[in-house]
Amino acid sequence: MSHVIGIDLGGSKIALGLISPRDEIIARRRIETRADAGLASVIGRIASEIEAVSAALPPGGRIDAVGIGAPGPVDHISGDLLTLVNLPGISNTPFRRVLSERLALPVALDHDAKVAALGEFHYGAGRGRKSMIYIVLGTGVGAAIIYEGALLYGEGNSAGEAGHMTVDPDGARCHCGSRGCLETFVSGPALSRRYAEASGAAISGGEVAGRARAGEPAALRVMRGAGRALGIAIASLAMTVNIELFVIGGGVAQAADMLLPAALASVKQYSFRAVSARVRVRASTLGEAAPLLGAAYLARAASQQ
Ligand SMILES: [Zn+2]
Repeated sequence: MSHVIGIDLGGSKIALGLISPRDEIIARRRIETRADAGLASVIGRIASEIEAVSAALPPGGRIDAVGIGAPGPVDHISGDLLTLVNLPGISNTPFRRVLSERLALPVALDHDAKVAALGEFHYGAGRGRKSMIYIVLGTGVGAAIIYEGALLYGEGNSAGEAGHMTVDPDGARCHCGSRGCLETFVSGPALSRRYAEASGAAISGGEVAGRARAGEPAALRVMRGAGRALGIAIASLAMTVNIELFVIGGGVAQAADMLLPAALASVKQYSFRAVSARVRVRASTLGEAAPLLGAAYLARAASQQ
């Protein structure tokens, strides 16, 4: 078994890890994305970082492939990045092909929520399960559905857009054009905005969770509302596909203790008892390592093709 590189390509940062044959991250680097500098610059800097982490290879070790999780939308078959509203500098580029040619290695690329889901499924909270739904709560909200061991893409490659499931048709307008999407309740910016509306104070989503933990009524109301919305989405997903394990990842997952009691109450309220009784909602166990290990899993699959 060989070493592989896992890359988490984010809007502001690129995290990169050298992963051993035993699925351990033995070296990591983090650089700014600076997508506005264009594709050649981003590819060149990733290649330099891979060179740098290669110093940690054991004698005789080599890198066999690279896996990347990228913000969507992406074409996971061609490995092209499509129109990325937050990263216009590298939008609509054949990212996978250009990196593969530069490194002379197989490269696999997929949507970041799907890649992190693969990490949790194979090495984290989903280990040993056949199916799982991963919901990433961060600046945005996304999801990935793994059914019988395989990622679900959907006929138009849009499966998993659970962040834009409407959980309140009379709710706040979402940037996607719809109304009352899950993301308008539970993303980091949504927690911050809802708290500001309730209290007049501008603080981050993480701080809202902290104030809720300290028992502050306005923060508690915001976190309960977010948990309730999350539970409505989970109830609908569980009723539709009858998958039982839900894993919550992303930055907001650190506030899982403040979200889950309300979420579980709504799951019970909005789904059949036979379904809700078997639903388990867990926080990610890998945290920031999930996207890197998931990307390594993709890389291994690419190297065997
Ligand atoms: Zn939306």
